[in-house]
Formats: sequence, C-alpha cells, structure tokens
Amino acid sequence: MKVIVMDIPDEGMHIAIDMALKAEGIETKGLVRGHIELQRSGTEVIVSGKAKVDIGLQCGLCLSEFTSELPLDLNLLYCPEGEPVSEDSVELSTGEMDVCQYNEGEIDIAQMLREQVILNVSISAVCSDNCRGLCPVCGVNLNTETCNCKNTSEEGRFFKLKDLLTKTN
Ligand SMILES: [Zn+2]
Ligand SMILES: [Zn+2]
Repeated sequence: MKVIVMDIPDEGMHIAIDMALKAEGIETKGLVRGHIELQRSGTEVIVSGKAKVDIGLQCGLCLSEFTSELPLDLNLLYCPEGEPVSEDSVELSTGEMDVCQYNEGEIDIAQMLREQVILNVSISAVCSDNCRGLCPVCGVNLNTETCNCKNTSEEGRFFKLKDLLTKTN
C-alpha cells in the first residue's frame, strides 16, 4: 500500500489499516489493524495514528511461546529523500516524532508499519511478570511443574545460608 504524497489533500488523508504484514524475524499473527492520518505541508508529511498487531514471541525465561499484542503509536515526519530536513520540520519533530524519508514521491505504508513493528517489538519478552522461568538444574518449566532442585531456588539458598550461619556460630 503506497500513498502518493502529492495526492494528499490539504485537509489530510485518513487511512484505515487492515493488512497482513511480514517482518523478517518477527512472527506476526493476524492482521495489523488501526488507522492513520496523513497531513501534508509542502513535501513534508506528518503521519500519526494507532495500530496494533499480535506478535508470536518466545519467553526469555521459560522459553514458552506466547502471543502478545503489540501497540503501535505512530508519530512520524516524512521528508523527501535526499533533501535536507528544514528548520521548521526539525521544530515540528521535536518531541516524540521520528523523522523518516520517502522516495519517488510515495510513502510505503506497509514498509512504515514493518519498521514500526521491528522498532517496537520487545527483544527481551517475558510471558508474564510472574514468570518463574526454567529450573537451571533440571530444566523444567517452573510455571507448570515443580522439581526438587532445592539448592537453586531462593528458598534453598536461604536455607543454605542459615546452615552456614548455624555452623559458624
Ligand atoms: Zn515465561
Ligand atoms: Zn529442577
């Protein structure tokens, strides 16, 4: 999906997002959904909006696969490739706005979303804040199983320390 910059009317352009997206190394599940607004000023375009997509991730602690909704908050300033960014646009872009470039007079919406997914996806994903991870000794998933490797659990460490203190006293 591409938008021809000069076709963006003065009152702006509204685009509903409902598209499949492939991003290398990222497992997207289902469609990217949302909406964006394009506002043009000369050759510069401000893209704003919100979208979301489900991403398949692997927990960094317990290694289980899970799906997480990735929200995309779009706030981008597009300038034509090869042209220096003007003072005005730098002023406009201060704050939360990312500056991007478009080429051949077109903004590739799919490419933009792909970049946003890659930028926003968490590398150190964890399936839940309470994930207990894998037992470093026997490797069981401590969220679903228990094991007897006491010496590595916090409780085990505590008891060991207590033993040590008792012995030294
Ligand atoms: Zn986990
Ligand atoms: Zn264990």
